Amino acid sequence: MNKISKVKYQPKIKSWPKEFGDKLPLNEAFMSFQGEGRYIGHPALFLRFNYCNLGCSWCDTRFTWDTDIIEDGQLLSVNDIIELSTKLLKSSHLEPANIHVVLTGGEPMLHQDRLPALIVQMRKTGFNFFEIETNGMYSPSQDMIDSIDWWNCSPKLSNNGLAQTVNVVPDAVRSIYATGKSDFKFVVDSAEDIAEIKEYYLPLIAAESVILMPEGFTRSRQIDNMATVNQLALQNGYRFSPRLQILIWGNERKK
Ligand code: SF4
Repeated sequence: MNKISKVKYQPKIKSWPKEFGDKLPLNEAFMSFQGEGRYIGHPALFLRFNYCNLGCSWCDTRFTWDTDIIEDGQLLSVNDIIELSTKLLKSSHLEPANIHVVLTGGEPMLHQDRLPALIVQMRKTGFNFFEIETNGMYSPSQDMIDSIDWWNCSPKLSNNGLAQTVNVVPDAVRSIYATGKSDFKFVVDSAEDIAEIKEYYLPLIAAESVILMPEGFTRSRQIDNMATVNQLALQNGYRFSPRLQILIWGNERKK
């Protein structure tokens, strides 16, 4: 992406209801494998929630937030989500204790006032490991810190088309890092991105918690970027993660 297109990009973000009651706007739920980061390859139940506050230019889940294509999804109670989760799990030969539940979006932290109640009830039915995928712009409540087993935090760089003054919320990044159970996955496409990680994020988090992933939501773009990003990780002392779901399925849904 060149500098001109970065400046021109303006996301069209659908505003979210002020009052959800105790319900959660579920866009989709499905069984798959964690495709990125520390728990790559682990069987997982994905719960994808609608709405995002940011609107990255290369987002592969625009259907959760873009005014032009957002899908209604369903406003579901905790019991509805547990019933759906149990039904989905039955399609595999796995027990709830042997999978991870991945809360994703969109930006699931927009719903942090209601997610702990869901997690408490899901734990009672046997689910026992909860990951969250967040852009790192919201500081977690104590209930969220207590509820989540692993934070997959993906703070954004200006390769998403937005200024770093928009992307970086230092207090939120610090507080997620302070949970002691987090990785920071950065979507990268060039050496310029490494300079941004160092300038904006390494004052907030340790280099050991950084994972680089190739930008691109098509299989060919992933493959084109992987070698470069892999070497950037090695040269800078970071970890590297492919994005298995894209390599295997391209941008097919529910994978
Ligand atoms: S923060 Fe995540 S969900 Fe939101 S626009 Fe960026 S990539 Fe998409």
